[in-house]
Amino acid sequence: PELTSRPWSKDVQIALKSTFRMSGFRQNQLEAISAILDGKDAFVLMPTGGGKSLCYQLPAVINTGKTHGVTIVVCPLLSLMQDQVDHLRALNIRADAFNSEMSTVSRNHILGFFEKPHPEQFIQLLYVTPEMVNKSETFRNGLSALFERGKLARIIIDEAHCVSQWGHDFRPDYKMLGEVRRQYPNVPIMALTATATPNVIVDIKHNLSIDACRVFSQSFNRPNLYYEVRQKEKGVVNSIGDLINSRYDGQTGIVYTLSRKSAEEIAQKLREQFGILAHHYHALMESVDKARVQRNWQQGILKVVVATIAFGMGIDKADVRFVIHYYLPKSLEGYYQETGRAGRDGQQSDCYLYFSYGDIKSLRNLIAEGDGSEEQKGRQRGMLNRVVHFCENKRDCRRVEILQYFGERFDKIDCQRTCDNCKAGGRFVLRDYTKFAVAALQLIKANRRMTMAQCAGVLLGKKPSNNRLVRQHYGVAKELKPTEVHMMIYKLLAEDALDEDNRINRVGIAIQYFTVGREAKDFVLGKRKLQLVSSAGGET
Ligand code: ADP
Ligand code: ZN
Repeated sequence: PELTSRPWSKDVQIALKSTFRMSGFRQNQLEAISAILDGKDAFVLMPTGGGKSLCYQLPAVINTGKTHGVTIVVCPLLSLMQDQVDHLRALNIRADAFNSEMSTVSRNHILGFFEKPHPEQFIQLLYVTPEMVNKSETFRNGLSALFERGKLARIIIDEAHCVSQWGHDFRPDYKMLGEVRRQYPNVPIMALTATATPNVIVDIKHNLSIDACRVFSQSFNRPNLYYEVRQKEKGVVNSIGDLINSRYDGQTGIVYTLSRKSAEEIAQKLREQFGILAHHYHALMESVDKARVQRNWQQGILKVVVATIAFGMGIDKADVRFVIHYYLPKSLEGYYQETGRAGRDGQQSDCYLYFSYGDIKSLRNLIAEGDGSEEQKGRQRGMLNRVVHFCENKRDCRRVEILQYFGERFDKIDCQRTCDNCKAGGRFVLRDYTKFAVAALQLIKANRRMTMAQCAGVLLGKKPSNNRLVRQHYGVAKELKPTEVHMMIYKLLAEDALDEDNRINRVGIAIQYFTVGREAKDFVLGKRKLQLVSSAGGET
């Protein structure tokens, strides 16, 4: 009821129908719109295609009296920006972009609007890159003047996961956006993203200083996607070619790979040996070539794009029938994003991941050689380990594991055999890990909270310690491989025997801790067992 009785409630309904030409709101849209129009900070977590844009585009055309003016939208991608501006203008909404590709004349033209007594009569939404917000003196001055006159309605941070070093696409310019709250106090901020692991959420809120924001989240489950992990063996490109031709003849898909070179080679092979309308796509191509490949694919002239992760953000094709990972993704979050480009029309679509241990090693090397602090590298390694567990796991539901990563609960999800593991029905040998699990739970309980590395280090007997809280459990899982201990801890997390406790440390970095959860006592009391597929090779 409260959502329909605000002064602007009627205008919101009218704008939805007459301006945006939509018949109703989707889940959480009206709630998020109401929060921001009420002058509160809002955090919108919605899967790709869920309808995030409307959450800030609609408020921009509403006159609330107290927060009326220009809506600033920070958006990382120029192509995305232009698409949005074109789309809004077609709906008669006054929208513009402001970025480094534009001439000084056009930029000054826009800044001129900021000086009008009623700037919203000239511009309702302005899309701007984070670089401009941070670095352009003229833009910042313009914005400050707008703010001083009470005409800075709200600031929108799109693709907000770029703020977090825990996210899969951290951008330093985004981190600087934390200044916005200090510079423009009381201007409501809305952050939006399609990725949200619990630690990323904590980190974004912290970095943007919107700790008290209203959070609007929903299930990230994609019931029409089928997930399968395959062993990557020699001649894998041939298997991919056969797979596409036998199951997806003439249909649209994406093959993700790691390097520019492999993208080109795979595309060529698919074209020449399998007659597939395939082309490569990577960051080192000329912009015109990239745009052409994307357009041709969008229009169905090309069927398969073989791409690095440069291909993705902002693509909007509804009938992608398959996403193949030729290479291990760097994080489960990235995997979710990339596979999420399949089946946006709701039709059944398939996701295949080709996994080999060799790929882990080269990704680890890439992390080691990459620039970035030791902390960042540690995080990257942690994210990669999670992907490895996902691939090694031949028993538990893939869907459950992905969603668990996003903090969603086990029992709410019914896979209906739409992943390889559920389909196979558990034809694998189990090993009982209960005694190690109990040790892990007791150890974590005694220490109140521990990181993965701390806990595994003690159980495996890696770091000697005289700590009385540690001694009893020291080396009890010596016979296990580190990956088994990690899998066990993730499993305990999935079973609610452990909880995740993400904290910001003194220097502002989010650290993932484990604490004892509500199901722990059943394991400790011997009422429950913890069984896992033994990665020491128990397959039959
Ligand atoms: P996201 O940014 O979350 O990926 P978009 O905002 O681009 O998603 O929306 C995805 C599609 O859904 C767009 O074509 C948009 O027009 C459509 N859409 C969004 N909200 C609604 C709604 N309430 N009713 C009908 N269509 C909607
Ligand atoms: Zn499943």
